[in-house]
Amino acid sequence: MTLTRRNFNQLALSSAAVGLIPQALAQTTERRVRYAIVGLGRISVNSFMPALRASSNSAITALVSGSPEKARRLAAQYGVPEGSIYSYEQFDRIRENASVDAVYIGLPNGMHAEYTIRAAQAGKHALCEKPMAISVEESKAMIAACKRANKKLMIGYRCQLEPTTLHAKQIIQSGQLGKIQSIESANGFSTPPGEWRLNRKLAGGGPLLDVGIYSLNACRFLLGQEPSRVSAFSSVVDHDGRFDQVEETIAWTMRFPSGALAICSTSYGADLEGFVRVHGSKGTLTLQPAFSYEGIQMSGQIDGEAITYLNKMPFPDEFVREADHFSSCILEDRQPGPSGEEGLRDMEWIDRIYKSAAAQS
Ligand code: NAD
Repeated sequence: MTLTRRNFNQLALSSAAVGLIPQALAQTTERRVRYAIVGLGRISVNSFMPALRASSNSAITALVSGSPEKARRLAAQYGVPEGSIYSYEQFDRIRENASVDAVYIGLPNGMHAEYTIRAAQAGKHALCEKPMAISVEESKAMIAACKRANKKLMIGYRCQLEPTTLHAKQIIQSGQLGKIQSIESANGFSTPPGEWRLNRKLAGGGPLLDVGIYSLNACRFLLGQEPSRVSAFSSVVDHDGRFDQVEETIAWTMRFPSGALAICSTSYGADLEGFVRVHGSKGTLTLQPAFSYEGIQMSGQIDGEAITYLNKMPFPDEFVREADHFSSCILEDRQPGPSGEEGLRDMEWIDRIYKSAAAQS
């Protein structure tokens, strides 16, 4: 077969799809945003890297890790050259790597600000996992650093790009559910000992920053309003050493300017399937599972008529949407969302929730 440019593209794409040739080679003829993956833990390796491989406008061209062995194994899998593997100490050298446009930060929460700021200073765009940082001050510094460097910043709230969540938001915002009276949400999982998630310096707090943030963000996003007041309680039920530095469970209520009330809770002491339930004067809508990596489902009723919606796109589609969106914003010079400012607003509410819980302990 004569290898024309067109059939090379087809061959390259179909071969890459079945894993026959490295992704980097298959992508030579298209404009793609090239990412360095910072932190090769669970979210990076199991979700975001496969999503970048499936993305139509993204590629993985560098890895940053504390484990050279793991980095070399993944580099071979993704066609990343040896010279584009960095340790955390070498991270700033990424500035000289012209084959890197952006970084994806999949590190413990307490390291997000440092690596986002260093990425911006190295002239790279940053897609940072939620929570964007562990304090309001850090979040503001991240936004300022990216603005100063004229680089884009997005926070990994994948649910804001997910079809069922967007469908639910449209129903609520269009008034089909009537006047919203209340919204309930919970999210949590049982955390084993030894996790960075239980270390205050690395996590910044307990389940509120890690998984409760999904409920907080969903309430703000679905209602399209900022709360006007919050009130919270936190507790430790299991006195087994895991919760010496962070809360085990925290529950909070929020009042919104429209009068809608939110009742939320999160825990590291119980496995639960995250949900959001919205009660309006004309009906009720439930998202459950609300925050899973696939299969987010809506059910409910409006004026007695059943409503349902199911996102049937398999994993890792939610992460592919995130990668596609951030990459297209870079390629087309558009502002990505969820923005750094969106991440900052959650951090401001998290700060108020913790202050309220501390005042009532
Ligand atoms: P993880 O523990 O699996 O991975 C963390 C990575 O950071 C590991 O590669 C680890 O080696 C590295 N690391 C570097 N310095 C470290 C240090 N001092 N201590 C501990 N680890 C260190 O964590 P994860 O579950 O992948 O979470 C990473 C981030 O992604 C967190 O901010 C988390 O909130 C977020 N996250 C987002 C989603 C989502 O759906 N968007 C899901 C899970 C996690």
